[in-house]
Amino acid sequence: MQKKGTIEINSLSLNHLQQLFGEAKIPKYRGEQVFCWLHKFAVNCFTDMTNIPSSLQKELAASFHITPLMPMVKRTSADGTVKYLFGLFDGQTIESVLIPEEDRVTICVSTQVGCAMGCRFCATGNSGFVRNLSSGEITRQVEWISQENAEITNIVFMGMGEPLLNYSEVMDAIKLLNCDEGMALGLRRFTISTCGIVPRIYQLADEQGQVGLAVSLHAATDQKRRQIMPIAKKYPLEELFGACHYYTNKTRRRITFEYVLIAGLNDGLDDAAELVNLLAGLNCHVNLIPVNPVGGLYQRPESRQIESFARYLSQNRIATSIRRERGLDIEAACGQLKQTAGEVVHEDS
Ligand code: SF4
Repeated sequence: MQKKGTIEINSLSLNHLQQLFGEAKIPKYRGEQVFCWLHKFAVNCFTDMTNIPSSLQKELAASFHITPLMPMVKRTSADGTVKYLFGLFDGQTIESVLIPEEDRVTICVSTQVGCAMGCRFCATGNSGFVRNLSSGEITRQVEWISQENAEITNIVFMGMGEPLLNYSEVMDAIKLLNCDEGMALGLRRFTISTCGIVPRIYQLADEQGQVGLAVSLHAATDQKRRQIMPIAKKYPLEELFGACHYYTNKTRRRITFEYVLIAGLNDGLDDAAELVNLLAGLNCHVNLIPVNPVGGLYQRPESRQIESFARYLSQNRIATSIRRERGLDIEAACGQLKQTAGEVVHEDS
């Protein structure tokens, strides 16, 4: 994929764009027009900006480029979930997922190519880290998909990568998507999911308290957590929960804890009891996720076991939900599509 000008124009804030336009003696209102084309209409080239004179289109193309995002695979599940595999300028690929529900339409986006965190149950974690995405590459996923689905209500940073290890680009992406001249998505519509990067949780609480936080917990003791999440060796639960309490006290927002249920590992009532103790006094919600069997390594518990785990939490006044399984027929778990899509194919028309 070809890039022309050196500056990635769709990573720039409106202010920055207008400043560069000012230095080039381009009228300020042109900055707003260009920003709108990029972030509201997701155009891929300057010649598509029909209210911009062709002389200015050429001038822009000489200095800037627009992040290329090439749809390579699109799979639609029977339950309406749509999974996309996008190609990037350097030949790398990332995944994004559209999740329509009765009361909301969510896009799950990637923030890195691959992931260094190595969670054992995750296809992305098993394939290693390649690079961070730019804010333009992050926002393009939302802008591109929203061209097909106008009613986007929520954005979750829960795709490939650990968002808090690409902190500044993720924050810039949120600002771009929040901008009135772009998609104007309210800050409370964003949720960042982390495996537990403690210093960045403190930073998020101090800098951007309106954005929601989800923490991938998956076990209620350090010993079990270390078995499936290498990050637990760096940040034990005591440190992680110090940061979580700080976040809820500072922002007054509830944290969602994601808990992947794995048969025989973390799905017993003794595990549920440990979890209740751990979460005592914290404004939170637990989202139970039956594990998506990646490579057959882990098995999901029987439905009866999942329900009794959930019931135990609820009876102990922990707000709990069981995530409805979506997109199983299209390999919607993080990293699965990339693994299986060896060839460039368009599966939906
Ligand atoms: S679950 Fe998230 S943090 Fe863990 S390896 Fe997968 S992408 Fe990375």
